[in-house]
Amino acid sequence: MVNYLGVNSMRQLVKQVGLAAFLQQLVDAIGHDYRRWERFDKSARHAIHSPGGVIELMPTSDGDMYCFKYVNGHPKNTAEGLLTVTAFGVLADVGTGYPLLVSELTLTTALRTAAMSVLAARHMARTEGPGSHTMALIGNGAQSDFQALAFYHLLGVRELRLFDTDPAATAKLVRNLQHLSLPGLQVVTCASTADAVRGSGIVTTVTADKRNATILTPEMIEPGMHLNAVGGDCPGKTELHPDILRRPDARVVVEFEPQSRIEGEIQQMPADFAVTEFTQVLRGEAPGRTRDAEVTVFDSVGFALEDFSALRTLHALLHTRPHLATPIDLIPQMDNPKDLLGVALQGAPAPTHPADTATRHRPTPALQEAPTP
Ligand code: NAD
Repeated sequence: MVNYLGVNSMRQLVKQVGLAAFLQQLVDAIGHDYRRWERFDKSARHAIHSPGGVIELMPTSDGDMYCFKYVNGHPKNTAEGLLTVTAFGVLADVGTGYPLLVSELTLTTALRTAAMSVLAARHMARTEGPGSHTMALIGNGAQSDFQALAFYHLLGVRELRLFDTDPAATAKLVRNLQHLSLPGLQVVTCASTADAVRGSGIVTTVTADKRNATILTPEMIEPGMHLNAVGGDCPGKTELHPDILRRPDARVVVEFEPQSRIEGEIQQMPADFAVTEFTQVLRGEAPGRTRDAEVTVFDSVGFALEDFSALRTLHALLHTRPHLATPIDLIPQMDNPKDLLGVALQGAPAPTHPADTATRHRPTPALQEAPTP
């Protein structure tokens, strides 16, 4: 049987493990996988665009396990009471090709994106000095709470400066953070992006708008800032003014360069614009930051490897909590793997006519006429 992990079980899993510990496990898993970069089969994700959004497929494999994620991005969905981003995915065994786990990935995507942001910030943001424990959080929708919590728990951020064009979104984030009563955390609601960004050592942009938005403009950027640009992740959907990337003191790090050239902030730059892949930073082959005054940019779009790390983490956690997984009959179980028709006919009424008996031993017309997949 294939295991299924739904939203409710995912919620229980996070509760049992504890949010901070869960995020840390994701940080560790993602870090482990980025260190073995060469092992992965990598490609830019497959995207089908429509006027209102995008639907993407994100596959990868390390040779032992394979995964894919289905994910959408529809910024106008929230006006209809729907999420901007939903996702689900599959982890499979490469040896047999058999799926092992079918999982919700909507909550998981928010968690893994926040974990990836923290991992990047650990290698790129200043750890000391003015504003190093202050983060501006621009865009206070579904993903933002996870960013806030990950940076609080795992990076020691103690002041959050919030702005969203929708005050109700900010009010929701404030409410959620208050409900969690996080010791030492100061939450400031700001009147504008410029107000939120001022004095912040880290700036996370996680807005949703299907256009080249300029959430951050050059005059907002202060020396030493780390920009965690999460919301620009599609062709024609960016958050940073290109002059920020052009700054001589800016260092831009991406996940997988071929995908980021299409989808990231760097889609606004010429093809020879210099970037560093995160794996190089993680493995000490390139610096994440060379000096305090440098402006560092993590141009995040979300790469399949991060979902692979998340799925294998979920798979391992379910191993010790089998009650949270629901076995589903996705793949036939059979004594004779060559008798697939036998599975289809199992439990079928006994034939009453000799002609029916004959059809049991050769493919039915319906099967013969079925189009080749
Ligand atoms: P959401 O719709 O729930 O929230 C987005 C928020 O941005 C909304 O509250 C909206 O009012 C606000 N916003 C829009 N324009 C703004 C502006 N000019 N200034 C300030 N706020 C503004 O969406 P979400 O699920 O939170 O996703 C946010 C973004 O993150 C999306 O663009 C999504 O595609 C992206 N995302 C990226 C990754 C990644 O790995 N990089 C992963 C998941 C989601």
